[in-house]
Amino acid sequence: MKRKNERFLKRLLETPSPTGFEVPVADVVRERASRTADEVVTDVMGSVHAVLRGKGNGPSLMLAAHMDEIGLMVTYISDDGYLSVAAVGGVDAAILPGMRVDVHTEGGTLRGVVGRKPIHLIKADERKNVTPIDQLVIDLGLPGKKVKKLVHVGDVITFGVGYERLGDNMAVSRAFDDKVGVWIALRVLERLAKAGRANGDFIAAATVQEEIGTRGAMTSAYGVNPDVAIAFDVTHATDYPGIDKTKHGAFECGGGPVIARGPNINPLVFERLVAAAKKEGIPYQIEAEPSVTGTDARAIQVARGGIPCGLVSVPLRYMHTPTEVVSLKDLEATVRLLVRFALDLEEDACFVPGIGAVSTADGPSDPESEEPGMFDETIAADGQEAPQPASDDKDKE
Ligand SMILES: [Zn+2]
Repeated sequence: MKRKNERFLKRLLETPSPTGFEVPVADVVRERASRTADEVVTDVMGSVHAVLRGKGNGPSLMLAAHMDEIGLMVTYISDDGYLSVAAVGGVDAAILPGMRVDVHTEGGTLRGVVGRKPIHLIKADERKNVTPIDQLVIDLGLPGKKVKKLVHVGDVITFGVGYERLGDNMAVSRAFDDKVGVWIALRVLERLAKAGRANGDFIAAATVQEEIGTRGAMTSAYGVNPDVAIAFDVTHATDYPGIDKTKHGAFECGGGPVIARGPNINPLVFERLVAAAKKEGIPYQIEAEPSVTGTDARAIQVARGGIPCGLVSVPLRYMHTPTEVVSLKDLEATVRLLVRFALDLEEDACFVPGIGAVSTADGPSDPESEEPGMFDETIAADGQEAPQPASDDKDKE
């Protein structure tokens, strides 16, 4: 990854954007997008849509990634200056004690700590318990009067950590979920501009409020009204001890982008994504999503009269903690995959299941040249399907 692109990733990650308070990171997105995009529009929810006009009449493609991050919100300030808080999004109470945090106030950012009684002072049975978030307090090291002047109920808080390189081509940060997606969407926009643009318009959408129910994606999908869309989010890597692969699948950091498959995904978008990965020679991983996903794809797919939507992710370890880990290799591979997907969208691309088809120019496009497959035996010589043998088990069904 080029230094300047990594610096931009770091900036996105370290700019606070708890759900509902995305303005600081939206400013960063607008600034970067306006260098390349033909138009940058912010909707009333706060989502940013950067448009790169197509060179022809191809379908418009929206690539959506949410720019909000999980955090905390001040619910109460005690007379002696301790802050009580509630979770914004899915915050695990177990990770909070001992953490440094940033409290974002009108006048600026204050460093705070989530206090935890020393082990010496905790009763043996108390040590085993996780303290619920509403019983934790944040200590700003300031007298009560001063805290009450500086901090207000409803102020938001982020984990007090940023971006760092780790190991071999890996990185750790808070909020890779999903600002890594915002980075990817903007990189795709920039790469498409360099590659002479797609046939249709490309819209990089940095959505708000995903962490409390994909709310920005709902309005972006309706407002942008793309012909086809891809949601990008992070998914659970399962390549570390303690995760059951039989239950959660096998996803490896560094193993390439993850392409989701299931009812929340348009089957032709899925096929096109796989074709794009093959064409680019990018390793990829397939994730089964047997139900509606917890991503922007959930909202986009059922917007208006239905929008064909795919879902691409990168594997991420320790989601929703201050130590989310990703492989930088996966980020770059995902950009390549999505650029290829966008460039290969032809003017008459059809996404209606059972009617649309995916041309695989580099694949086995001529069916007569294919080796007979294991399923071909049921096809009779005249091309008709062979009659199925009568089943004895009919009444058991
Ligand atoms: Zn999340």
